[in-house]
Amino acid sequence: MSERKVDHSIIVPVYNEEESLKPLFEEILKVMTPLNRPYEIVFINDCSSDRSPQIMEGFRKELPEVVRIVHLPKRSGQTFALREGLDASRGSIAVTLDADLQNDPADIPKMLEKMIEGKYDCVCGWRRLRQDTPLKAGLSKLGNIFQRLFTGMNIHDVSCTLRVYKRECVGKIALNWEGQHRFIPLSLSLQGFRIGEIVSNHRLRKYGTTKYSHKRIFRVMVDFFRVLKTGGRK
Ligand code: UDP
Ligand code: MG
Repeated sequence: MSERKVDHSIIVPVYNEEESLKPLFEEILKVMTPLNRPYEIVFINDCSSDRSPQIMEGFRKELPEVVRIVHLPKRSGQTFALREGLDASRGSIAVTLDADLQNDPADIPKMLEKMIEGKYDCVCGWRRLRQDTPLKAGLSKLGNIFQRLFTGMNIHDVSCTLRVYKRECVGKIALNWEGQHRFIPLSLSLQGFRIGEIVSNHRLRKYGTTKYSHKRIFRVMVDFFRVLKTGGRK
């Protein structure tokens, strides 16, 4: 891996997303190239069993200066994949997003601007027009209202993975157990970091399938109190 200095690290966890990867890669390049700042794309291959690994290796061959890949030896889940990606990243700003094209990389520049203008440590995407099943979107809305009421944190969409972070807070994000990635804004906010948000574009999943079912809702409630108990710390 090259030790080139980078401003922005784009971090993408991947589990069986073979059809989405090429359009995603093209969208990221289209957004990042005009910024004219050195950047890297860190793909975390969560032990995919489809053609995702070969496709990512193809990107690395095409742009070895930009693309890095962390291959996890066993399926580890989105939380651990994000942890690996954040740890491997080197940019002064980290950007996380999903691989399935539901998040839109075109939102990244305005999130970066908002982070600087608002002096935020982290800016989260807000999927105001969420493109998921009504049940999933409804449960998520309830979860968000619940978190806002309980914590006073003024974020509408705590679980949108599209976020930008300053390097200073990347190392403080608690990602110790599977599911904890849903509480990243809470983890940072409890530790005194400033969190902003911006309305982001959300798209229907066109390829592949979701890796989660709404049945996790009860687990998420338990997890929420677990995070509160630790003050959001690692
Ligand atoms: N993902 C992963 N490991 C997993 C589950 C998911 O790396 O065990 C990745 C997945 O490929 C995607 C992101 O995490 O890039 C979010 O997953 P998904 O789209 O299934 O979640 P949803 O949007 O349905 O909540
Ligand atoms: Mg998704």
